[in-house]
Amino acid sequence: MKYIIVTGGVISGLGKGISASSIGRVLKSRGFNPTGIKIDPYLNFDAGTLNPFEHGEVFVLEDGGEVDLDLGNYERFLDVSLSRDHNITTGKIYGAVIEKERQGHFLGKTVQIIPHITDEIKERIRSIAHKSGADICIVELGGTVGDIESMPYLEAMRQLHMEVGGENCIFVHTTLIPVVMSVGEQKTKPTQHSVKELRSLGIQPDVIVARSNVPLESSIKAKISLFCNVPLEAVISAPNALTIYEIPVRFEEQGLTDYLMRKMNLTTEVNDGLEDWKSFLGHCLEPSGEVTICLVGKYMDLMDSYISHFEALRHAGAELDTAVKFKCVEAEDLESSSPEKVISDVDAVLIPGGFGERGIEGKIEATRFARENNIPFLGVCLGFQLAAIEFARNVLQLEGANSTEFDQHTKQPIVDLLPEQRGIDRKGATMRLGSQPVILSPGSKVHGLYGVAEISERHRHRFEVNPDFIDRLEEAGLRFTGKSPDARRMEVLELDGCDFFVASQFHPEFKSRPKKPSKLHWGLVQAAKVHAEAVKKG
Ligand code: GLN
Repeated sequence: MKYIIVTGGVISGLGKGISASSIGRVLKSRGFNPTGIKIDPYLNFDAGTLNPFEHGEVFVLEDGGEVDLDLGNYERFLDVSLSRDHNITTGKIYGAVIEKERQGHFLGKTVQIIPHITDEIKERIRSIAHKSGADICIVELGGTVGDIESMPYLEAMRQLHMEVGGENCIFVHTTLIPVVMSVGEQKTKPTQHSVKELRSLGIQPDVIVARSNVPLESSIKAKISLFCNVPLEAVISAPNALTIYEIPVRFEEQGLTDYLMRKMNLTTEVNDGLEDWKSFLGHCLEPSGEVTICLVGKYMDLMDSYISHFEALRHAGAELDTAVKFKCVEAEDLESSSPEKVISDVDAVLIPGGFGERGIEGKIEATRFARENNIPFLGVCLGFQLAAIEFARNVLQLEGANSTEFDQHTKQPIVDLLPEQRGIDRKGATMRLGSQPVILSPGSKVHGLYGVAEISERHRHRFEVNPDFIDRLEEAGLRFTGKSPDARRMEVLELDGCDFFVASQFHPEFKSRPKKPSKLHWGLVQAAKVHAEAVKKG
């Protein structure tokens, strides 16, 4: 097993996850089988209880793990399915060590960060890497070198390096090269400081990935090489790119793959030249058409909150040779100003998942507007539930129709708690989570999109369309075209009078990949194209 440890310096938010994923992608192009582990040094057990404003979207895995969004990047770049173990948190590490202590596992010893916590970290990484069947394990350490909470992990990585040897464990450090505005000069001092910090902890980086607004000048590369004690060829320039899917190609062009292989003593005859990836990238960069899709959410200040939707729409756009422009609308804004003003110029509307009351009425308004004006519409999870509520209120005329999530005493509980959720009051990992089968009705729009009658998609919800209202909703024209195998749970709804009005209880965005876009996002972009054409023709 080879380990590639990706650390970050200077500031957070440099795209370490994209660097880690891109390294995996270029190694995959040489026939290796890399996997990824993300370490989040926070104390939460998992990402499931975190507000998206904290670290962005909560990504959901096949096994129902609620994890950091970087695992979504690994899955998309490497085209693999990961398990919840691939996201290590301090909560999990300390929880396991304390449990072992309670069981008497440490035989009377004083339990300490070194060696007990560091041993737990190393053991987990080794065991996950081996279980995954991969030959290279990329470990991304969240946060920035120097953070107190990262310290035990850096120490564990130093020990791992010593134990497995330098050719089996290498360090990639991602930093920022700021450009001083007045003189346009690229500055290496923050990078020097963060490498100095890393070295004081016993870690010498093997590669520096230098993020900047612009490509690194050769003199700056030389300076980083000299001051950070890294060969010139291992200083990688990572300027802002038009799309994240460019990064593997930029790494490959700078010889990073060959350098990594040499460092790790890996040889191979395989090299697909990233051909498939480049063809996908070509479609991303030079599309012939363009559509605008409006996403109505409630964490719009942080684009990462809905990252899997944006990526799924990009994957779909690339397949359809269409650039997808996003119009991001705060749901609450639709409560004070009319949707006519805010979303009449878009080609499609997407209402993503969510929790809590804030912004609900705005999302319902956007849904009404899309339905009444035949604007292509996709609702996901909460978006699915709200589509049923909007229909009940405005077509069935059920006044006050709501979800018991927002109005416990509503007389028309169109959306209600899943039966098995009653009595659950713990919040962590207690929703209906992960991959579940869904049966699609023959001849429906979704059936046409998926091309098969049984699918499997990822879930994350506590509420569902209330079975008591299904007959009435269907009689009025809402069709439930996807259901659980026992037909008890509604999974997909469609509206016949509209060109594309589809919503799903599951989250198709989590399984979308380059060249294998989510079927429902593909359907939405396709419908948006038709809509845009029709508008153009008047
Ligand atoms: N809040 C809703 C529920 O728990 C929807 C969840 C979601 O959109 N992920 O069922």
